[in-house]
Amino acid sequence: MNLRTSLNSIKGVGPKTAEQFQAAGLETVGDLLNFLPRKHEDFSEIVPIADLNPGKQTIKAKCESVEVKRVRRGMTVINAVLADDSGKVRAVWFNQPYRATQFKSDEEYLFSGDFGFRGGRYQLTSPSAEKVSEMPVQTDRLLPIYRQIKGLKSQIVRKTLAELKPFIVMLPEALPSATVKSNRLISYSDAILGMHFPKSSDDIAKARERLGFEELFCLLLASQLNKQANAKLDGWHIPFDQKLVKSFVERLPFKLTSAQRIAAWEIIQDFERKTPMNRLLQGDVGAGKTVVAGIGTLQAAQAGFQAAIMAPTEILARQHAKTLADMLKPFGITIGLLVGAVKGKARSELYERISNGEVQIVVGTHALIQDKLSFKKLGFVVIDEQHRFGVEQRQRLLGKADKMPHLLAMTATPIPRSLQLTVFGELDVSILNELPANRKPVKTKLISPVSAKTVYAKIDEEIAKGRQAYVICSLIDDNEKNEKKSVEAEYRKLKNSIFGHRSIGLLHGRMKPAEKEQVMVDFKDRKYDILVSTTVVEVGVDVPNASVMMIENADQFGLAQLHQLRGRVGRSEHQSYCYLMMSDTSKPSQRLREIEKSNDGFYLAEVDLNLRGPGEIYGKAQHGDLNLRIASLADIKLIKQAQVAAEQFIASNESLVQYKQLASEVERYQRLTILN
Ligand code: ADP
Ligand code: MG
Repeated sequence: MNLRTSLNSIKGVGPKTAEQFQAAGLETVGDLLNFLPRKHEDFSEIVPIADLNPGKQTIKAKCESVEVKRVRRGMTVINAVLADDSGKVRAVWFNQPYRATQFKSDEEYLFSGDFGFRGGRYQLTSPSAEKVSEMPVQTDRLLPIYRQIKGLKSQIVRKTLAELKPFIVMLPEALPSATVKSNRLISYSDAILGMHFPKSSDDIAKARERLGFEELFCLLLASQLNKQANAKLDGWHIPFDQKLVKSFVERLPFKLTSAQRIAAWEIIQDFERKTPMNRLLQGDVGAGKTVVAGIGTLQAAQAGFQAAIMAPTEILARQHAKTLADMLKPFGITIGLLVGAVKGKARSELYERISNGEVQIVVGTHALIQDKLSFKKLGFVVIDEQHRFGVEQRQRLLGKADKMPHLLAMTATPIPRSLQLTVFGELDVSILNELPANRKPVKTKLISPVSAKTVYAKIDEEIAKGRQAYVICSLIDDNEKNEKKSVEAEYRKLKNSIFGHRSIGLLHGRMKPAEKEQVMVDFKDRKYDILVSTTVVEVGVDVPNASVMMIENADQFGLAQLHQLRGRVGRSEHQSYCYLMMSDTSKPSQRLREIEKSNDGFYLAEVDLNLRGPGEIYGKAQHGDLNLRIASLADIKLIKQAQVAAEQFIASNESLVQYKQLASEVERYQRLTILN
């Protein structure tokens, strides 16, 4: 038997069980060993019902009766009466309808949950439940609980793992032995045993530490190997033209912030190095990243290179093309816009002008990575809102040059320190840590649905002062058709009653690109007082005169998304306002309270990392692959330890070849940020 052995060749795994495993994505022995428990339930102290104390408690009881109640908005509440020889207690579950039919009246279960006084009586809240007759024999009462994917029961996982125990005991070490020793880690075999068959909570802690260390070690090794590989690449030399840059800066209608100056200077210095730039420009919404990228593109174009700017939406690509055209007009630079809407003859002509070098700066969407498009001499690539793009898309664009072009990735989602140390360790980072001097923090307020009127009044007041407003409608579900319906309904409502005396524009994802652009141009030209829109304006859109935003059903958005949306206002000297409308009068979620009290993107990103994990804040496209299963990116101490270990491994000149398991993990992580 080895890690690649198919699960259906294990004793006790019949065709039906094998099918269930497969449905849950588990095919081999290795898959199952790495299917780690979601948590461990401690059944070691069973308390008679009569002796229950407030706090986490476990009882061994039968279920006497169950009652299902449906309350507002599709919520279900299950009430059950549990009994043992000493007495009875009530248990309550929310939104777990399967509990209604789970319990057989003559079976005993271990219920483990929080006991306390709620809603006027003592009860056990959302306890876990395990059939006593199905409890594995040698668990020592610390029971691993597995994620139930597609009906796969913890019980089956445990039974199959028990069959594999003799194999687990023999598992070879995955990490270099020097690393295990100097970091005082338990062996791989003991760690897998500790997760699936813990004898004490100390076993679990040690196992988590060891497996978490391994993940971080791979991640950091990947990052350092990428750094080494990038240092060997041969890049374009783009010389600094001081007069050019100076005259560009002097023509700007504003004074650059010192953070913008430093970032631009760092880019220009990178251009002069032998190796290609691999730089991340972080700056909160509205910090002014575009002009920094603009300086780079100008310098590259003037030195005889082409530059490409890729943006995630067509609206944004068009906006950038226009901004750059305005900024670079005095320098006689030719700019091309390549988006989906450019079709047929116009498209093939544009391809031609790009490949013969006539177009010096190309701004576009994903259309830039089409195979048909080739450049004459691509020297500089800018990826705006890079978390919106996948690894492959970035690589395909970079692959369009004879030598590796310089890369500037930009993001408005500030990256928490831990992510920066790990995932982005090998990138050079420039941070715009100040907003232009004219800005005032956006005033944000949570609003109960009954107070919508006051918000309408505020919007009207701002419009009367010459400002403009956004009204953002959420997805009701993931269906674009419904989104269109909801935004159109809102538009009609505002137009036909409350804002009959104002001009209102409508924008949603289902409109044709040319229509979208027209609406955006008209909004920017102040033809509309109010823009009713879906989240298509979420990233990048820049209309500095807009000073008030109302977000309907704000509870349906994530924290990062709300911060991005809010970033559409507060982009000029005008005091701006953001009203977060709640869908009902229930208590606001933590993320709404956080966004109300802070405008600081760095702080909010940290909060989001803790609430939801890295995939959510830093873009699924890229970090769906990141997927740390054990290590917490909040564990700076373990990250530091793994960092030192990775450095030592590299210094030891040992090759990864002899560590097969590690090598494939490292390679997976390397793909996240490598240049080629
Ligand atoms: P983001 O960092 O969110 O991409 P933008 O580059 O779109 O921000 O800039 C936001 C707005 O701020 C734009 O209207 C831009 O012209 C303006 N801006 C940029 N830099 C400055 C500055 N130093 N002073 C004043 N306004 C600026
Ligand atoms: Mg931007």
